Amino acid sequence: MNELLNRLKNSVNTQILNQVENSLLEEYKFVPISVKDNFLFVAINSDSDKDRINVKLKDYFPQQIKFIQVPDNDLTDLIFDLKNNNTEPAPYVPEETSASKEIKVGELLVQKGYITDVQLLQALAESKRQKAPIGSTLFKLGFVTLVQLKEILHMQTGFDLVTPEQLANQHNFINLLPEDFIKTNKILPVSSDGKTLILGVVEPVKPDVLKEVIYLTGQNPKQLMMTHYEFETSINTFFSEQKKETAQIIKNIEEESAEFQAEETLWEQVDNELRDSTGNVAKFVNQIITNGIDSKASDIHIEPRLTGYIVRYRKDGMLQKVLDIPPKVESSIIARFKVLSRMNIAEHRRPQDGTFSIKYKNDSFDFRINTLPVAGKEKVVIRILAPAVSLNAADRKINLQGGTDEDVAKIKNMVSCPNGIILTSGPTGSGKTTTLYSVLKSLNDEHVNITTIEDPIEIKLEGINQSQINPKAGITFASCMRAILRQDPDIILVGEIRDYETLEIAISAALTGHLVLSTVHTNSAAATVTRLIEMGAKDYLVSSTLTGVIAQRLVRKLCVHCKEEYSASHDEARQIIANEQQINDFTNKTIYRSKGCSKCNFTGYTGRLGVYEIMPITKEIKKLIAIGAHDLEIEETAVNNGMLTLNQSCINHILKGETTIEEFLRVLGIVNE
Ligand SMILES: [Zn+2]
Repeated sequence: MNELLNRLKNSVNTQILNQVENSLLEEYKFVPISVKDNFLFVAINSDSDKDRINVKLKDYFPQQIKFIQVPDNDLTDLIFDLKNNNTEPAPYVPEETSASKEIKVGELLVQKGYITDVQLLQALAESKRQKAPIGSTLFKLGFVTLVQLKEILHMQTGFDLVTPEQLANQHNFINLLPEDFIKTNKILPVSSDGKTLILGVVEPVKPDVLKEVIYLTGQNPKQLMMTHYEFETSINTFFSEQKKETAQIIKNIEEESAEFQAEETLWEQVDNELRDSTGNVAKFVNQIITNGIDSKASDIHIEPRLTGYIVRYRKDGMLQKVLDIPPKVESSIIARFKVLSRMNIAEHRRPQDGTFSIKYKNDSFDFRINTLPVAGKEKVVIRILAPAVSLNAADRKINLQGGTDEDVAKIKNMVSCPNGIILTSGPTGSGKTTTLYSVLKSLNDEHVNITTIEDPIEIKLEGINQSQINPKAGITFASCMRAILRQDPDIILVGEIRDYETLEIAISAALTGHLVLSTVHTNSAAATVTRLIEMGAKDYLVSSTLTGVIAQRLVRKLCVHCKEEYSASHDEARQIIANEQQINDFTNKTIYRSKGCSKCNFTGYTGRLGVYEIMPITKEIKKLIAIGAHDLEIEETAVNNGMLTLNQSCINHILKGETTIEEFLRVLGIVNE
């Protein structure tokens, strides 16, 4: 019995089918199935030409097309049956095969209202093509959650389910059964008290397998259900090649350390190990770095724990644990990082900074590394500086990731003045440099001379002069800027204003007709103004040279495939809004929260979005600065002139369904008045 074909026949909406000439189906190899949510679902196979079908169907249907790719034979059979008007579905005969059980999972999910008919059809086609279980396929397509799948699994089998706690601790028990036995029988030891062995299974196992478990372990087996997805994830976690490789390297390092221990001091031992750049420690450290690059991490944290160290990668602003380093090998690994970056390996009590570069996959990567003594050990943070990105100089538009047209217009207005200072502010990693470059790009033409002073050069742009500072060689922001001003450029970008010396030169450059762009570490646009004065600048000079400040942050962008609609509770809204009336308005609106699916690695988010607070320095604000007003007063005036605060623009992103309250709180904190 072919359940997919049967379901396809059942789902074909004859009204829609009749709109297309019958002969086309055979010629182009497709069958229009139905219209749902303003999509036209069309079955095709591997021979079909999607582009031609798209063009052809435009004549008949206004909807956007979603293709369901089905196995080749099924489409041929379907077209044949439709042609011979043989649309009667075959009678449903329940069979005791695993296939019929899998269909039941799908049907139960439809009955429960968790998925639609079309989704089941899509998943059935996909699972048949990929030869994957229907449950896993539905989950990977993002149509159901693991919780829904487990509920159905429980309904279907009557067995209890493996708990999340058991899954989290299964590494303690995984070795109770041999790897090949686990893989062949699809059973996973998840917990044991020494007498009863809890097994996670994807379907109830046969009694003779259970007998074998008793024989192998001497314990009484008890079965709990788990999803195929959970099973596969566990197998990949515990038996993957990479895991084995890492374990082997750690074992080698441990064995070598044991050999040395007898006759050598730790210092000699570490020193020996490090001389050999092809050794196991070097290999391991390289792996930590290159895995970080591959997973697009922005930095790597190597942090001491009670025993050993852990390695965490920061991706999209969030830290994720990736690895444990056992205590026996920690000192050699920390020392290897220090050697790589030419730090003093004997120094453990003082923080150190360093840099190193590696060539990887035809690109050169630079790293900033620093160590910090914590609780008798050293914490290491490595910042990965991606190879400088080249910007297309021909594209002169200001692109603000997540910014509105209004935001862009405000910035354009700011830069229309040929002299003055424009600052972006925010913490490290808030996208300040990207914004400055977008502005710079819009000003870049052959009639202006643009020079930059950076540390490091993160973005490359054709047609501008970019210089890199080098404090060790005496080339600082300030000294470099003095040299550049002698060449009289029109526009200068200074990577960061960190000290009064640089600020003073920036102000005098602006006073003498240059446009200066730079960044400052401050929390808000208004606080930037007062920060400049705290650094030592005269208030009347700040007032006359500053033309605008852009404060910004990055929040994670909700995954469009799995975001979940809801309305915020009063308590939730109060965390991000101060005004009671506005809280009530907010709770009446539909917003979204993160859920997680295969498309977003189960994080609920993909990519990031800028949150901007753009403050043009108007005459009114200039007056306030000149009389030394408080930053709150400046902010209030700017808001009255139409400035959106960081909080307000983040709320706008939430209302547009682009990010969440969770992200607001992570990046901007709780609002209180
Ligand atoms: Zn998702």
